[in-house]
Amino acid sequence: MNNLTPAQKTPQNIEVDIRQREVRITWQDGVQHTFTFDDLRRICPCAVCNELRRSDDPLRILTPDQQVVNADLLPARPVEMVGNYGLQFFWQDGHNSGIYAFDYLRQMGDGQETG
Ligand SMILES: [Zn+2]
Repeated sequence: MNNLTPAQKTPQNIEVDIRQREVRITWQDGVQHTFTFDDLRRICPCAVCNELRRSDDPLRILTPDQQVVNADLLPARPVEMVGNYGLQFFWQDGHNSGIYAFDYLRQMGDGQETG
């Protein structure tokens, strides 16, 4: 799953559309993916969210913090590059510890198309 070519996991253009609530990434191989803010929040790769997704105990009681259905980015500072390998999103609820590596985003985008 991790055999992406450099062109496939290198963004050529990244658009953050606060109004449409989506992020559009055009990769160097010409493929474009659109991620809604809600999708991005759901796939947050930080340790806390990973743990939440792993624990699928049906009897688990969600705390209000975990019942995120709508996610918005801070308009003034929605996203920053992390080195040259990923993006960090700044959510309005203060959550910002997930680093979205480009190969992760590429795989998620490719998965959307087939799924
Ligand atoms: Zn997270």
